[in-house]
Amino acid sequence: MERTLVLIKPDAMIKRLAGNIISDLSFLNLKMIGLKLVNVQRELAEQHYSEHRNKPFFEELIKHITGELHGNENVIAIVYEGENAISKIRNFIGKTNPDDCEPYHLRGKYGKIHTKTNCHETVVHASDTKKSAEKEISLWFEESELV
Ligand code: ADP
Ligand code: MG
Repeated sequence: MERTLVLIKPDAMIKRLAGNIISDLSFLNLKMIGLKLVNVQRELAEQHYSEHRNKPFFEELIKHITGELHGNENVIAIVYEGENAISKIRNFIGKTNPDDCEPYHLRGKYGKIHTKTNCHETVVHASDTKKSAEKEISLWFEESELV
């Protein structure tokens, strides 16, 4: 059994895609064990994306996840549990660049790169390893919030 964190990002929220994304994810037959709406503050964003601290796109990434680029929209944070939950969801969202995804991937279906701004609207985040899943779940949820 594995647990993984999914974030429905502000670009998806502003495009009113949250319902579609949760519906699509439900077909993976994983159990939703935590869900909440978060207005992401800079501190949480920086901790969540700490591995990208030195990347040229870091500042934009922080502005993206905090909603600054998308009408101060919130994020829906979800914990899923199940067999191979981490790879199941990663395989379903597709590659980091939406242009490299197939239409049946969440990022292929809903994601976009803006040619003018180069903003990577990847619509969802999903933990990529067991170690990052553990770190991320404890960052976004109290153990008592998981049901
Ligand atoms: P993933 O979300 O697939 O795990 P990364 O961890 O590499 O990908 O990157 C985190 C997020 O940073 C991506 O979802 C995307 O929003 C943004 N990002 C990644 N690479 C770039 C890039 N080259 N330019 C702008 N934003 C990027
Ligand atoms: Mg990542």
